[in-house]
Amino acid sequence: ASGYSLLRDPHHNKGLAFSEKERDAHFLRGLLPPVVVSHDLQVKKMMHTMRQYQVPLQQYMAMMDLQEMNERLFYKLLIDNVEELLPVVYTPTVGEACQKYGSIFRRPQGLFISLKEKGRILEVLKNWPQRKIQVIVVTDGERILGLGDLGCQGMGIPVGKLSLYTALGGIRPSACLPITIDVGTNNEKLLNDEFYIGLRQRRATGQEYAEFMHEFMTAVKQNYGEKVLIQFEDFANHNAFDLLSKYSNTHLVFNDDIQGTASVVLAGLMASLKLVGGTLAEQTFLFLGAGEAGTGIAELIALEMSKQTGAPVEESRKKVWLVDSKGLIVSSRAESLQHFKKPWAHEHEPVKELVDVIKSIKPTVLIGSSGAGRTFTKEVIEAMSSLNEKPIILALSNPTSQSECTAKEAYTWSKGRAIFASGSPFGPVEYNGKVYLSGQANNAYIFPGLGLGLIISGAIRVHEDMLLVASETLAAEVSQENFDKGLIYPPFTNIRKISAHIAAKVAAKAYELGLATRLPQPKDLIAYAESCMYSPNYRSYR
Ligand code: NAP
Ligand code: MN
Repeated sequence: ASGYSLLRDPHHNKGLAFSEKERDAHFLRGLLPPVVVSHDLQVKKMMHTMRQYQVPLQQYMAMMDLQEMNERLFYKLLIDNVEELLPVVYTPTVGEACQKYGSIFRRPQGLFISLKEKGRILEVLKNWPQRKIQVIVVTDGERILGLGDLGCQGMGIPVGKLSLYTALGGIRPSACLPITIDVGTNNEKLLNDEFYIGLRQRRATGQEYAEFMHEFMTAVKQNYGEKVLIQFEDFANHNAFDLLSKYSNTHLVFNDDIQGTASVVLAGLMASLKLVGGTLAEQTFLFLGAGEAGTGIAELIALEMSKQTGAPVEESRKKVWLVDSKGLIVSSRAESLQHFKKPWAHEHEPVKELVDVIKSIKPTVLIGSSGAGRTFTKEVIEAMSSLNEKPIILALSNPTSQSECTAKEAYTWSKGRAIFASGSPFGPVEYNGKVYLSGQANNAYIFPGLGLGLIISGAIRVHEDMLLVASETLAAEVSQENFDKGLIYPPFTNIRKISAHIAAKVAAKAYELGLATRLPQPKDLIAYAESCMYSPNYRSYR
């Protein structure tokens, strides 16, 4: 290959880091300025450039450009500066990128599979240059973060999630495939936008939707085999639960909004018990929002409680209450409830307002998972604080604009007593002369390690016990020093090590459950997981 095309191949390009010998051997002389720089200096320079941008979206675009120019530099940058760059490649900035995807779209970074390709999905998969795929993240764009239906522009989500699979979980970039399924959009603004990049029709539903998804799922298994991990991402809940249960017995499927969120939040709760004392079963949980995130977390909490107490899960569920857009979920509403809410319809009179629910249920833990911002008002936080010495308050809705409250509000209104974490990141808060750091209940703590564990064990199914061990492993990573600052999640700086630990525990569980196909089982699973992880260091070309 010519030196010129080498510089344009993102998988091999090193830019100014090509050595003198490589420049001679690969016809690069004259195509680069004379200086030879180290990978580290390239990272330093890029970060310098990144920090010049005033607008997060510009940083996002710079990152995407870098990914297409020099893949190893992109990943090294992301790994070495993970705390700073996570909010750029993922929430909140990715949300804005999706909203504007039509105008910032340059080159495809994944596969678009639209209704036009009905009957030919297998052919479309074969157009992707890589054959060996280990992880697919797929969305149909109907519920992007808390931003609603963004149709085909949801592609930013699978692209972003997969870059985290690589950076944080060490899955090779070439083994990752982002896919957006386009069955139309119900977003009027997009339908009327002349720059919209997707199908200009309303969403297919019912049988047409189910058949299309079935063709997709069948084609994926046929093309990549049984061990490819398919992560469903940002589907609306009226499809998400059904897809997950329909394919969980035939495919290696995982829904990050339901299961990943559940695992990361349970980890935070396990950790927060070290600050408030008591067991999980002694807590009372209240959720604002009874969708994928809310009911997913609720179910995993109930499951873990039952493992700890030996009580049936139906019994454990009674410690967990949920509020949806119509108020508290109670038994008198059972008839009209969607199936995923039914297990949570306990005996209680109907209550509409969150504050009134709090006063009646007396929760120790309040979790926001509604996608509706500013719903944890001063009154709400004060009610939680009058009931609890240290109220646990999680504002999970993303992006930042949808957060139930800010970190500052949580600490101020609780007079510094809240144990707080959020879905989108908040900076340090000063209250009464003390600085409070709040953790981010970011799914990126769990899914990369979980995925790595599934892959290295050759797992063929995801089992809920894997989610529980992932939670336990993450909770155990919170140090005393973290707790002292009020954090219930470890810092992201050690995330690759954390991912390797989660992967090892998940893989061990896969072997224990007889779901692993990679035999014999490696002796030291942590060392094995670490040895499997992609490193962005340059290779030398001779
Ligand atoms: P979803 O399935 O659409 O569920 C939303 C739920 O919130 C529904 O039960 C809905 O009620 C309820 N709701 C909406 N507005 C409400 C209001 N004003 N008052 C009370 N309830 C209201 O969405 P999801 O997948 O669960 O996601 C919800 C949010 O969580 C999103 O913002 C998402 O970004 C965030 N999230 C965060 C994390 C994380 O922090 N790691 C992970 C996943 C998701 P009805 O059922 O009555 O319509
Ligand atoms: Mn999601």
